[in-house]
Amino acid sequence: MSSINKTLGIIGAGQLGMMIVEAAKKRGMNTIVLDPNPNSPAFRIADKYINKSFSDINAVTELCKNSDIVTYEFENVDDVIINAVCEKYNIPQGAMPLYYSKNRLREKKLANSCKIPTASFQSVRKKEDLINGIKKFGYPCILKTTEDGYDGKGQLFIHNEEDLPKAYEFIQINCMLMECILEKVVSFDFEVSSISFRSLDSSFTMLPIVRNIHKNGILNLTIAPAILSKQLENKIIEASRSFMEMNNFYGIMTIEFFVQGNDIFFNEMAPRPHNSGHYSIEACNYSQYDLLIMSLLGEKLPQDITLKPCVMKNILGYNLDFVDKIKKMNLKDTYIHMYGKKEVMPNRKMGHITFIGYDLEKYKNTIENI
Ligand code: ADP
Ligand code: MG
Repeated sequence: MSSINKTLGIIGAGQLGMMIVEAAKKRGMNTIVLDPNPNSPAFRIADKYINKSFSDINAVTELCKNSDIVTYEFENVDDVIINAVCEKYNIPQGAMPLYYSKNRLREKKLANSCKIPTASFQSVRKKEDLINGIKKFGYPCILKTTEDGYDGKGQLFIHNEEDLPKAYEFIQINCMLMECILEKVVSFDFEVSSISFRSLDSSFTMLPIVRNIHKNGILNLTIAPAILSKQLENKIIEASRSFMEMNNFYGIMTIEFFVQGNDIFFNEMAPRPHNSGHYSIEACNYSQYDLLIMSLLGEKLPQDITLKPCVMKNILGYNLDFVDKIKKMNLKDTYIHMYGKKEVMPNRKMGHITFIGYDLEKYKNTIENI
């Protein structure tokens, strides 16, 4: 399908939506986005926007009616609504990836069904489930809500018996609303993510695997490439490919893995562009946004993806002054992206910086600790 003058609709208009719009514009596409937040970053650059709720079926329908192709940057679209519009409109990724990714139990069961290991886990609906789980896994373990958690929210780390009262309270509050999940803690060496693409013509490609460093449960740094043994790299590529192919998923799929020795553990999936893929805008010949759009258009995906080694740092509300410091340093090949969000909150993602050719050892103190 030629992309010129086609309209791409995006459910969600945050920074991910904004970067999808930028990639679509480069190809001469029109864009329309939907988001309930009147100050959404993508509203400023999309051709059209709808400032309504994701749970407004008429608003989601209006978006789809005005689009040739629809994708999403936001995962928690109501099941009934997304199923209804998927039946009628061109949403190549479909509703299934969202159905799985929005629930931690479902996504882990799906990974296991594709023979991809996860941390040991079990469903928790009541106190007894927790006690049985701890008996099986031992300490430490992590209790999480199955839905709506992000950036480490909705999680409780259980170190030992002393944390049990907090865990019971967690269950009392959250199990009224939904099932929870107890996971054994993987004492991983490091975390990586893979970002894979499957086009409607069934061609498949991946961005280089990257290493992720979190701070207080939020992604702080992404290091590209991850630098892995060939054996580990092949394991991750094979798991990522078979996950998309076995489930017949199209478009984009990010998988976060824990790496421990030569073992990998699937942690989470996201069927949308991912924070850990922002680096690809400047460091690769195709960005995660370009490859998503190519997949949705059914184009043959490139196998010759190049990478300039780099580090991406997230800019949160509390470290906005980091941006000024970096500007003053006048570093070469440093790309500052600010998302234009009006409301600043300490842990809100306000922007990111990509340092190409960055030597992590040399700048460790400058970048990592600010
Ligand atoms: P979120 O949706 O908040 O990203 P995650 O499940 O990815 O939720 O958890 C956030 C972080 O907490 C992970 O990146 C990892 O560092 C740590 N974590 C989560 N689950 C486990 C686990 N089972 N074992 C070890 N660390 C974990
Ligand atoms: Mg995560």
